[in-house]
Amino acid sequence: MTRLFNEPATFTEDALAGFIDLYADLVLGVPGGVVRATETREGKVAVVIGGGSGHYPAFCGVVGVGFADGAVVGNVFTSPAARDVLSVARAASGGAGILFSYGNYAGDVMNFGLAEQRLRREGLDVRTVLVTDDIASAGPHEMQKRRGIAGDFVVFKLAGAAAEAGYDLDGVERVAAHGNARTKTLGVAFAGCTLPGWAAPLFEVPPGRMAVGLGIHGEPGIAEESLPTADELAERLVSALVAEAPADAGSRVAAILNGLGTTKYEELFAVWLGVSRRLEVSGYEVVAPEVGELVTSLDMAGCSLTLLFLDDELEELWTAPAITPAFRRGSDGNAGGSAKRRRPVEITSPDASEGAVDASEQSRAVARTIARALHAIAATMGEHEDELGRLDSVAGDGDHGRGMVRGSASAAASSAMAVAARAGSATLLRRAGDEWGAAAGGTSGALWGAALAAVGKGLGDQGDIRSGDVVAALAAGVKAVQTLGKAEFGDKTMLDAMLPFVDELRARSAAASLSDAWRSAAAAAVAAAQRTADLSPRVGRARPLAHRSVGTPDPGAVSFGLAMEAVGRVLSEHQEK
Ligand code: ADP
Ligand code: MG
Repeated sequence: MTRLFNEPATFTEDALAGFIDLYADLVLGVPGGVVRATETREGKVAVVIGGGSGHYPAFCGVVGVGFADGAVVGNVFTSPAARDVLSVARAASGGAGILFSYGNYAGDVMNFGLAEQRLRREGLDVRTVLVTDDIASAGPHEMQKRRGIAGDFVVFKLAGAAAEAGYDLDGVERVAAHGNARTKTLGVAFAGCTLPGWAAPLFEVPPGRMAVGLGIHGEPGIAEESLPTADELAERLVSALVAEAPADAGSRVAAILNGLGTTKYEELFAVWLGVSRRLEVSGYEVVAPEVGELVTSLDMAGCSLTLLFLDDELEELWTAPAITPAFRRGSDGNAGGSAKRRRPVEITSPDASEGAVDASEQSRAVARTIARALHAIAATMGEHEDELGRLDSVAGDGDHGRGMVRGSASAAASSAMAVAARAGSATLLRRAGDEWGAAAGGTSGALWGAALAAVGKGLGDQGDIRSGDVVAALAAGVKAVQTLGKAEFGDKTMLDAMLPFVDELRARSAAASLSDAWRSAAAAAVAAAQRTADLSPRVGRARPLAHRSVGTPDPGAVSFGLAMEAVGRVLSEHQEK
């Protein structure tokens, strides 16, 4: 249970502020995360890592000399927004390019990916290496689908050491990708973790049993076995990982026995003894092993074993010195780094910096209706937050309700400001989309942000808007979701409700008023969302646990249906007036 917080909603901010206060000598808080407190050497590649919080020391705990230059910090178990990634990357950049490295999750891929595109347009060289160490999340023939768990620590360490040693961006990228390909992890859990403010854990493991192959966001395991002894567990983990050794593996491995949150160090030591013996029997020599909490999952009870199959270069990087809040290796004297402190980064609000907008009266009138619609969506999401969270916890990470509430509330607040600034529909929706993505983070935040901006672009700030234009603009919004998320109809995502919505709206709007057509389209979206219960997810966080998700509708499709119903009510009131 996560017991201590002020408000569940501000848990991340409060924890991060405490962390920055505590480690002010090592890290500096910037909008969206932290960077090293001291300036990096001119011409050094910046390694920027990140993800949701709830994993400490991952990710902000390993910012420092010999490790990461910056960490982007999202909400609990939620990918940080693209805006946060941009802010941390800009603050961390040392002028020699940036390597993004993070666990392979759809939301992180989208948000870091958007930031990467943006930075490239600005002329910065940015590369990405996804961590894919979890052998339980996809088979060896689908390595690129595997998610990142405790292997994050290994890949970040290797990349950080290479950058500190003066490798150029090509070199840092090569080492990170090579290290990732040789890093394998398997985890087990004895009890699920509980999100701050939640009464029950995200999943439960029956007494005397153990979940095998769990994720680090409260995603349940892929198999259940009876609870082993410490030695049996060591045997189970080592044999599974050794079977994944790359063809050219030598006899030296780095190892991490990682506690997931509430498993005691003494328990880990007892398991470690078995791991170390087992590895020796299998002909491996262990180099600089780590036992402790390195990538956690809030208060989950469980542990994971990670093996890095070394070669000479990887061994040198793995053993190189580092000074970070949560991890130190070697003496401070040999870690290098600069003593010059960074200047604090100023926080600017993007909305305040934008001046008055040129828009037609008609586009402004539509913008006022859109603002009311966004408020209605925010109110509905507030009412359904718990339900959406529960749907997402069946096979995902339980954050969908929170994300939708944060995103829609920020979008609604921004739309009120845009109306006050006399913005047209395009400007209002672009800003609302920005705020939605920034406040929500995660997969759905990035997708809703992109969708709103695309709908706005379709409506424009000038001229007359007819119902045909509305259909076309909404279709463009759905297209933006497809382009960014690369999912197809039937993959069990929000698209399964969005596509039927637009089809029905298009079919009806020829003969009916927009508000009548909308009501019927919203009903189609709600029905289509319910039908996703029969499907098995092919993309997103729920994919590794596809079988569990059957019988439960997709949370993103359900929330979309609810949102469209809310907008329908606003349009009906509008028509009555
Ligand atoms: P996260 O998966 O990052 O935790 P949320 O829980 O907020 O994000 O949103 C999950 C929802 O996002 C899913 O229910 C699904 O509808 C939607 N989703 C996930 N991946 C995709 C994708 N590639 N394309 C479209 N929608 C997606
Ligand atoms: Mg989720």
